[in-house]
Amino acid sequence: MLIFLVPITTIGGQEDGTRGIRGTSLNDIPTNVIRRIYGKQNSAVRREIHAIEESSTGYWRTGIRGDPDFEIEYENHPFALSQKRRKETHRNLNENFEFKPLRIKFATDALEAQRRNGNYDDKVDFIINNILPRMGKFWSSALSVIPIESNLIIQSNELANGVFCGDSEFTRVPDSHLTTGVEDADLVLYVSGQPSTRFCAPRTLAVAVACNFDQFDRPIAGAINFCLDQVILDDDGSAHPAVVDDNVDVAIHEAAHVLGMSSNSFRYFWDHDTGEPRTSRGFKESTVECVDGKKRTMFLPDQNTLRFEVGANGQRHAAIVTNTVKTVVRNQFDCQTLSGAQLENQPTGTDSCTGDHWDERLFYPEALSGVISPSTNILSPLTLALLEDSGWYKANFTMSSVSPWGHGVGCDFVDQPCLVTDDSNKLVVPDYGRGFFCTKANGRGCSPSHHFKMGCTVVDYSIFSGNKIPVEEFQYFPGEPELGGPEQADYCPLYSSPYKNDVHDLDCRNSDNGNGLGIFSESYSENSMCFETNSGESRCYEAKCIKDEFSMEVNIRGEHHTCSKDFQELSVKVSDTGLLPITITCPRLSSACPDMFCPANCAGRGICNYTAIVNGTTRPKCTCFNESDSSAGCAETRPLDGRYLDDSSELIDDIEDTYFDPLIAVFIDDPSTWNNASWAWASGLFMLFLLIILCICSSCIPARRGRKRIPRSDD
Ligand SMILES: [Zn+2]
Repeated sequence: MLIFLVPITTIGGQEDGTRGIRGTSLNDIPTNVIRRIYGKQNSAVRREIHAIEESSTGYWRTGIRGDPDFEIEYENHPFALSQKRRKETHRNLNENFEFKPLRIKFATDALEAQRRNGNYDDKVDFIINNILPRMGKFWSSALSVIPIESNLIIQSNELANGVFCGDSEFTRVPDSHLTTGVEDADLVLYVSGQPSTRFCAPRTLAVAVACNFDQFDRPIAGAINFCLDQVILDDDGSAHPAVVDDNVDVAIHEAAHVLGMSSNSFRYFWDHDTGEPRTSRGFKESTVECVDGKKRTMFLPDQNTLRFEVGANGQRHAAIVTNTVKTVVRNQFDCQTLSGAQLENQPTGTDSCTGDHWDERLFYPEALSGVISPSTNILSPLTLALLEDSGWYKANFTMSSVSPWGHGVGCDFVDQPCLVTDDSNKLVVPDYGRGFFCTKANGRGCSPSHHFKMGCTVVDYSIFSGNKIPVEEFQYFPGEPELGGPEQADYCPLYSSPYKNDVHDLDCRNSDNGNGLGIFSESYSENSMCFETNSGESRCYEAKCIKDEFSMEVNIRGEHHTCSKDFQELSVKVSDTGLLPITITCPRLSSACPDMFCPANCAGRGICNYTAIVNGTTRPKCTCFNESDSSAGCAETRPLDGRYLDDSSELIDDIEDTYFDPLIAVFIDDPSTWNNASWAWASGLFMLFLLIILCICSSCIPARRGRKRIPRSDD
């Protein structure tokens, strides 16, 4: 619900003398990367948003509308039809209704007003011209709705004080929206830039809340407030493309809270099969033990939507258990016994019972988990599944990307501890955690997406910002209970520390990073990925996922090496002479090439069979619930991006020589393996050798005795 910038703190050695030696200061973080995390610093902001949802209108709390006659006009809505025919036969309402891309209109009057209140012209322009259009386009492509037939009219009795969307500090809804309404819109987002401390903690970037709903409870209006002081632009008002991307990601995250990803929205969900609310109205209060162990009396969704569970380690959490979500999360981990997808179990707002985000430990790179990774932010099929299960939308799963995190690893990834001790009480990463978790504070690995080099995050909680030591079930380091990874990830150490000042300097896809000495022949390009190596660092090389061969090809100096198994070790020469052979560890294939394994997690419309045999070999494949289902995702029609090739025929070895390799070969290799350049170097060296001999010899020959004797005067 809000955005928060935070340092990733590590202990142990740091490259480049940057930061992070036990007790990093908040001031030391690079400012050009947005990260968000829930923490006590912004729990007050979060409490404000919850208070708005709980109390701005009675409707939020009770589910009983102020005006029972209120109706948004739809030509043909499945839920309207189900209301009419409820007493007739049960029917599947999934067919023949015309869902169309969600039309989002932005009302930016309140944001524009901030131009006058400070030097915010550039930032207001940046949000209006760069951020909002991309965010709107994303959600329009990802979600479809039954379109509103006439103008979208805002109901004043759901607004704060009858006029404000969400809060009096956000936007005062124009009178015309209450009377004539907004044309061609299915959702109005009121965008403001109020810097008030109620909504802008020192590192909060934005907050969002829904403020109007149609008769089927779909949000039709919401507020999104940007904290302009946290928008960091260059002097000329522009921003690095990566910074723009970060801000767009934040806006997409915030809009998702308005669209339905909010603990206060889950009880409003409708069942798209029966055409009825999933939780009956008006809501009844119940007393429940929340994820923090405290008992609260509150309005909760029905158990068909959300359930409280206790994990293997005794930790209580809430899970979304609707059908599409359940199918997607089972396919994600290849764990068909999961009951649903876990919400965050670190209650970060003081009054939060279930959390508003996916759990960090299980869904770390997800765009709708609580913490944004500095490198990887993936809107996965899970979030689209949740929004589809709200009953309000049809999701276009091709707009999502399968998360590499725990993908296809099995139930152990979900149930078992992230780190374990071996027979000699040594801390190790278990097989199911390999590539995701780490044990050493200065260990070097790769980001979840395999696009960035990353350091292992281990925090000493005895000195970090006064934080308390992890509770017993989250202590992994024998004899060192104060150590652990990020709190939200259940203190599991993971590769989330950028060890350079700017995370983009660690991006394998950024060709500007390839200007160094290059003794490991690394390649920084659009198609490069990060590989763990034994060279003390992870390294960047070009790589492609080959669909037909079900393998990955790594290109090192023009020569292709095949990764056909998870964690296969490749001994590769990073120079032509073999002077520098290093071992490259292949990534987990389901993590580096996630779309080769049941794209879009079968779009929640079937089970991913990870052991399916296709043409005699094992190839994970979706088994659709409906055999004639040809929808993108389940029927594997998803177009694959540039990381993938259908087969390896397009790969051509183009072995590169470095200028000095043939020279080194002269000293190292047998002449039978020399190439022409080596022979040229050898000839040149021989000539040089002769020249030197000549010089030495000539200096030894005595000077000729032909010098005339100069007569002395007294001769
Ligand atoms: Zn959020």
